Amino acid sequence: MKVYLYNTMSRTVEEFNPIKEGFVGMYSCGPTVYNYAHIGNLRTFIFEDVLKRMLRHAGYKVKHVMNITDVGHLTGDGDDGEDKMSKSARETGKTVWDIAKFYTDAFFADYDSLNIIRPEVVCPATKHIDQMIALIKRLEDGGHTYIAGGNVYFSIDTFPEYGRLARLNLDDLKSGARIDIDSNKKNPKDFVLWFTNSKFGEQAMMWDSPWGRGYPGWHIECSAMSMHYLGEQFDIHCGGIDAIPVHHTNEIAQSEAATGKKWVNYWMHGEFLLSDKGKMSKSSGEFLTVSVLKQHGYDPLDYRYFCLGATYRTQLQFSYQGMDGARTSRLGLVDRIASLGDSVAKPAEVSAKAHEYMDQFDGFVCNDLATARGLSVLWGMLKDDSLTNAEKRYVANYMDEVLGLGLKAIKAKKDDNSDVPAEVMELVAKRAQAKKDKDWAAADLYRKQIDDMGYLLKDTPTGPSLQKKM
Ligand code: AMP
Ligand code: ZN
Repeated sequence: MKVYLYNTMSRTVEEFNPIKEGFVGMYSCGPTVYNYAHIGNLRTFIFEDVLKRMLRHAGYKVKHVMNITDVGHLTGDGDDGEDKMSKSARETGKTVWDIAKFYTDAFFADYDSLNIIRPEVVCPATKHIDQMIALIKRLEDGGHTYIAGGNVYFSIDTFPEYGRLARLNLDDLKSGARIDIDSNKKNPKDFVLWFTNSKFGEQAMMWDSPWGRGYPGWHIECSAMSMHYLGEQFDIHCGGIDAIPVHHTNEIAQSEAATGKKWVNYWMHGEFLLSDKGKMSKSSGEFLTVSVLKQHGYDPLDYRYFCLGATYRTQLQFSYQGMDGARTSRLGLVDRIASLGDSVAKPAEVSAKAHEYMDQFDGFVCNDLATARGLSVLWGMLKDDSLTNAEKRYVANYMDEVLGLGLKAIKAKKDDNSDVPAEVMELVAKRAQAKKDKDWAAADLYRKQIDDMGYLLKDTPTGPSLQKKM
């Protein structure tokens, strides 16, 4: 199965060719754990999950590494502001370690509820300080750093390729440079690799280093940890689109300056989820979480369905109307699949038509994750009466390897009333007798009593069917 991916580096869709046959090394920038993830962040993690599922579906073994930023991410991307973790600790009166633990757990609870497959490696920055120090030393030995005001800086002038990913014009940067608040920097785009000097004084998270006691810059963690787990060259690096101009640009500079080699072959970025006020963000103070969606009566998978309905490379406007549509569609899907029976095994014979649907689906999702088109193939297949129920379930399961909507786990609808309490069944029998006797008033009364006991009664051609009310 051929795979095509949009590479931000080349700004084109390219055929995917892994470094090692049959294997994909994939790194994604993980959450900064100072607050709950908002559903915008989670859109990016859903995109990465679909990417990983698609690669597995296409036959690759995927090693997915994701960091947890529990130190060093300042409130501003350009080395300005306070450490996000410290700020949250100061505001809540908790320790930074408590904050990190609490929000990491909360993050993975959301992750699981959205049916996102956990990465093979989850690496917290605070547990990899040695790797970061080693990488900074390597950069220092190569002449890419300088020390000013107690901090170690990366000098972008030592890396001529700087800014390639974001297509930054360095001449413009120099001539039109904004007055940078950090006067230690030789070039305004230089960035800190190691802080020993913070305007916020004693940080709770500090480590000894050759440059003094301090803490790492945000960008160095992703370079150090990805290379530690995936090697000095790997296949795919992904994240949100906001990481392109600073974070990923700086990651590339550090990594390639250290090794002298191309670092990553494919760069992939998910577009923003928008709220009424523009990009959904944590710092704006008002953001939607999975819990808020649940409070509004949605299943987290409704949100996953909502995201799958748009391509990951376009902005997506959040609305409750859109969520209602996603919920209706997803429940419709669940209902249809439940009516197909329980069989999840491959049917004895899979028709040419069923194969056609699978190929069509693969053609879409393996072409830069066209999930919305993939969903419409799934719907078309389910509505096609030329396929048997067993085939439909089989094909739906096949497609769900990529979509991740939990379709395989859907239990077949029970037509019998075996788990309905005896008292309710007694009323059903009495109502049937009343109907036979043409005593409509009594029949209505029994129906009302059944309803009061929490069951909805529907007359069907094969007799009365009962449904437990939610
Ligand atoms: P953070 O926890 O702030 O480090 O962000 C985690 C991920 O979410 C990063 O890859 C961001 O680029 C991404 N992200 C942030 N805001 C949005 C948004 N509104 N829509 C989609 N992705 C976002
Ligand atoms: Zn990163």
